[in-house]
Amino acid sequence: ALAMHQVQHAFDQNTVVKGVDLTVAPGEVVCLLGPSGCGKTTLLRIAAGLEMLQEGSVSLQDEQIAAPGLRHVPPEKRNVGLAFQDSALFPHLSVLENVTFGLKHLSASARRERAEELLSQLGMANYASTYPHMLSGGQQQRVALARALAPEPRLMLLDEPFSSLDARLRDRIRDDTLHVLKKVGAATLLVTHDPEEAMFMADRIALMRDGRIVQTGTPRELYCSPKDPFVVTFFGEVN
Ligand code: ATP
Repeated sequence: ALAMHQVQHAFDQNTVVKGVDLTVAPGEVVCLLGPSGCGKTTLLRIAAGLEMLQEGSVSLQDEQIAAPGLRHVPPEKRNVGLAFQDSALFPHLSVLENVTFGLKHLSASARRERAEELLSQLGMANYASTYPHMLSGGQQQRVALARALAPEPRLMLLDEPFSSLDARLRDRIRDDTLHVLKKVGAATLLVTHDPEEAMFMADRIALMRDGRIVQTGTPRELYCSPKDPFVVTFFGEVN
């Protein structure tokens, strides 16, 4: 499980994450939901190890992976799958090679099998030998998801992973992604500003505002027992 304790982060004098406590259990999908600029991406980058931890602590499966000035396990040693808004595919590798990239420990046939299965689950089976520049933004996003999921990481960190998909496709890909996440059993932290997406994807939602988590709970708890007017307003936007 991922556990973040009293995490605080500032850029220069500007504190953007203010004492956040957050846990994600194996197999659980937690959606970090909140308006633009509230600190969601920064928190995700801290979990990934892309930002140095300034205050608080971060652990993964009971092992401390970050403590200010003491410990910083780099992203590539955290066994995390990352799919960020701007996560670029390797332009010189085919779709299949992009997905198999992190699977060096498997035999060539096992690599290919795993990649083909994921691509097919994400509706990209026919694009295995295509190159990234020939794909639409939404298709690239799906390949990036497959690449992040392929090594079956213990932690998945997803930042607006469906933002480039058109509405028609989005529901299906959300559904397929959820299915794969549950199958892999990864602890998943998914950033979104879309309450509807959080309601659909999350086992628990952590609603953020101005660097703080306002309320954490199941979608039903937030919807039915909002702790303060901000929660009500936010979910008022779901239609
Ligand atoms: P969005 O949904 O728009 O991506 P967010 O909730 O993910 O927003 P963050 O990207 O974490 O928010 O940004 C939180 C605040 O920190 C913003 O005010 C942003 O301008 C600031 N910020 C983020 N990264 C940096 C940086 N590298 N240097 C300085 N300020 C930053």
